[in-house]
Amino acid sequence: MANAESAQQAVTEHAEIGVIGGSGFYSFLENVTEVEVPTPYGSPSDSLFFGEIAGRRVAFLPRHGRSHHLPPHRINYRANLWALRSVGVRQVLAPCAVGGLRPEYGPGTLLVPDQLVDRTKSRADTYYDGEPLPEGAVPNVVHVSLADPYCPSGRSAALAAARGREWEPVDGGTLVVIEGPRFGTRAESRWHAAMGWSVVGMTGHPEAALARELELCYTSMTLVTDLDAGAEAGEGVSHEEVLKVFAANVDRLRGVLFDAVAGLRANEDRDCLCTKALEGLETGIELP
Ligand SMILES: [Zn+2]
Repeated sequence: MANAESAQQAVTEHAEIGVIGGSGFYSFLENVTEVEVPTPYGSPSDSLFFGEIAGRRVAFLPRHGRSHHLPPHRINYRANLWALRSVGVRQVLAPCAVGGLRPEYGPGTLLVPDQLVDRTKSRADTYYDGEPLPEGAVPNVVHVSLADPYCPSGRSAALAAARGREWEPVDGGTLVVIEGPRFGTRAESRWHAAMGWSVVGMTGHPEAALARELELCYTSMTLVTDLDAGAEAGEGVSHEEVLKVFAANVDRLRGVLFDAVAGLRANEDRDCLCTKALEGLETGIELP
């Protein structure tokens, strides 16, 4: 079931790769098609924007909406991942801005994490929610493994793409995801650093978990925009500072992202753990 193409898509546009990130990544692509994709979980953050990179069909989704009106805790993550899967996406690249928890991870650092810690508290973060069902139906209770939350193959493509553009990435590390929208206190930041975690963000969870629940390959690419409060002696993080560093790096991050897209395998050639998340499990919902 999980790997079958949906025969009855309401949307006729198709993409094999999804990118969850701001409009700076797709706004200059030619022939971009905008399509609204409804889901059983409500509306995604915005329309999907379909374009082509290196011969691959890509669906872009602005995580915070095109006008950046959705704070991290208000994003409909379930709708976002579901919408991508429903148009054929099986591999997702997810660039995001983060704070560095170590002095050596200063602004402009590109870190491709291999681990995740969830410190969010108010988000719908599963499709397997065990809701009441008609008699005889399969209970919608599934426990997927998230021991390794990121796609090993997608990570390799992202790392190779960065090196190819002479932007030496940090290979691995732990992304801790906080609820936000406020930034952390110095004590929280020092604690995160003392735990050995690398970077702190607000959107990496539940994206990775939901992707795994849908057997999607998911790769996070984090751009450090600031040193988190405990890692520096100044005033702490400001949103203005974050936007400034992101804007300064968006061109080269786009370049890396596009090369990573080109470097991903064909969906039908995937053999990573992500594709086996639901192996042998019965789900109470049918995946698109
Ligand atoms: Zn994978």
